[in-house]
Formats: sequence, structure tokens, C-alpha cells
Amino acid sequence: MDVMGIAEDSWDHVVELRRQFHRHPETGWREQGTQRLIEQELDVLGIPYVEVAGTGVIATLVGKRGLPVIGLRADMDALPVKEETGLPFASEYENTSHACGHDAHMAMLLTAAKILSEHRDELKGTVRFIFQPAEELGGGAKRVAALPEVQDIDTFMAIHIWSPIPVGKISVQAGPRMSACDVFRLTIRGDGGHAASPETAIDPIPCAAAVISALQTIVSREISSTEAAVVSVCTLRAGTGFNVIPDEVTLTGTVRSFSHGVHAQIPQAMERIIGGTCDAFRTTFELDYTEATPPVINDEDCSRRAEAAVRATAGDEALIDYPMIGVAEDFSFFTRDKPGVLALVGGGKLEGPVYPHHHAKFDIDERGLVMGVALFVQYVLETQEEMRSTARLG
Ligand SMILES: [Zn+2]
Ligand SMILES: [Zn+2]
Repeated sequence: MDVMGIAEDSWDHVVELRRQFHRHPETGWREQGTQRLIEQELDVLGIPYVEVAGTGVIATLVGKRGLPVIGLRADMDALPVKEETGLPFASEYENTSHACGHDAHMAMLLTAAKILSEHRDELKGTVRFIFQPAEELGGGAKRVAALPEVQDIDTFMAIHIWSPIPVGKISVQAGPRMSACDVFRLTIRGDGGHAASPETAIDPIPCAAAVISALQTIVSREISSTEAAVVSVCTLRAGTGFNVIPDEVTLTGTVRSFSHGVHAQIPQAMERIIGGTCDAFRTTFELDYTEATPPVINDEDCSRRAEAAVRATAGDEALIDYPMIGVAEDFSFFTRDKPGVLALVGGGKLEGPVYPHHHAKFDIDERGLVMGVALFVQYVLETQEEMRSTARLG
């Protein structure tokens, strides 16, 4: 089928859906109205669905052969950002807006669902349309990826509309795409006392200073120059008075990395450096290290199929290489154990200022929606053809 032509014909539909979502943004785990909108649309299309993880939805379209099972994912949540776009369809809710473009993701996925259901005769495998809550909070995908409803999915695909990429261009390249985001909280304990008699106390403050300096050597001395990582200490709290040595110091921060190896390496190095430094300063410590989000790493086969899908729908000139992005995307929970690809579809306006994601004036060029719809549909067609020959399918 002429996927691009059909996607272009769906312009009114996808734009209307996007604007409806845009008017009614809801933050993570509060997406009840958003869930209702998705369900209404699925009811119209006659696609069965289940509610998952409170405010999420998974709809399933079964093709002739049933296999492979392809998971297409859209995130649903908005941000606690007061919208200042002045758009006629701006957020109707106070201090909440779709400043990351997740309204576009849902609209594209629902429109792809409409097209695939209307061309069900060409569908061989099964498609699960995953509408996932709370991406911005990092917990949504973690919860949904663990559900029984997604365990039989062979391969995952998601789109992030990306305003730094001009509309008309798409990046689907293989390898690390977005960083892992970890969060840590470190408490260093000494023994407080009078500032004038440090010999009677164990001061945790110089120890904390030494720890902060030593942590800088992880990236500079322990990580290969061909890898990228960030270790940032962002809060530091201690003390109650200028003449009192405190009992403890608390630090919090974040770690970003782009490969599974470095992602595993950094907390071990931190534990070792903090332990050694605290020993030297006679303090004790407690390190609370949380893996908030793994890195997004695009699988080579999935990436190649997505590339073919872009060429087939938007043409060779639409494909671009785009550098790794130092923010996290929790789609990575789906692709930790299964192959998948995250496509960055250009949503940047060609004229006028382009505001970054999460900005109060963030907006997209809606022509990107049609390209995303086409990519979703064509990716399913490419994947169901190619994955027929995998071991699982005989
Ligand atoms: Zn975001
Ligand atoms: Zn986002």
C-alpha cells in the first residue's frame, strides 16, 4: 500500500487528535482524561484494549499469521510547565502543558492504529499499541515493561518528535541514542563537636570535599575516551552553625551514561572511591544509588528496518545522522532485553524561533506528525516481512 499517501490523507485526523491531547495535558500517573480519549478512539476503531498500570492502555490488532508481535509505544504524560505558546489550542489546564510533544506521540500512534486496522488484510503479525503513562517521571515504562501483556512482544519501536531536528528529517541510527539516568544520595557520617576542638570530633565536611573531588576522576581517569558519561554532584547539605562541626553531610546527584558497560561500571567505581576516602577520613557512609533509566540503544536490525521504512515513505534525503542525546527516555526499559528502535522524527519549524523540549513556548511543526504516522505503519510492514524467517517463527 501507498503508506505515505494514506498518511497524508490522515492529516486532519492526526492534527485534530494532537490538538485534543494538547488542550488537555495531564502529568504522570494522572492521565485519566488522556486514557479516556485514547479509549474512545480505540472504541471507534473497534480495536480491543486493556487498561494497564492505572492510566495506561494497551490495544492489540491481530494479523493473519499472528507473528511476529510488534510493540509500538507512545508516552502519555505532560509536564508541570505553564504554556506560553499563545496557540489557539493551548493547554486549558493551569501550569500543565505538553511541552515534550507526547501529545504528538499519542496522536501518531492512534492514527497508525487506524490505518493498520483499515488495512487489516495486509497485516500478518500482531501489533500491540502501548500507551504508557509517566515517562517524565521515569517510572512509567518500568512498570509497563514488566507487565504480562508485553512479555510476548518480539520487538519494540517508538517515536520521539524532536524539535531540534527540522521537520522533514528523521534519525533512526543504530547504537546508543539517549543516556541512562541514575540518581544517587550519599550520606557521610562523622561525629560532631566544637569547631575549636576538631581533635575531639570526626569532621565529615573535609571528607565530603575529598569525595566530591575524587568522584571527578571516574569520568576523566576510568572511562574510555570513546565513551561518554557524566557524574554530577548537585546538592550538598551540612551543618547548623559556624562554630559547630556537624555529624553528617548529605550529597545528591545524577549519573548519565550511554552504554550498558559504563552504566554498570560507574556505581561500582563510586562505591570504591567513596569507601576508600571515608576510610581515610574515619567516617562512615551510606550510598543510595538508583538506576532511574537505562540507556536507549537502538538495535542494528531494527534500525536498518526503520531506515528502510523512512526511505520508503519520506525518501532517502529524509534520513539523517544525529548525535547522542544526554537526556534519558524510559523507552529503554522495553529494549533492555528485547530489540527495539527509537526514531527521532523532526518536529522543528523551518521558520521562526525553535524552542527546546520542556520550554514554555515549545511547539512542533505538525507536518512531522504525518511522517511519524507513515513511519509507524511502514515499520510494521517491513518488520512483519523480515521477522518471518527468525527462529521463533520457524
Ligand atoms: Zn521530556
Ligand atoms: Zn519526551
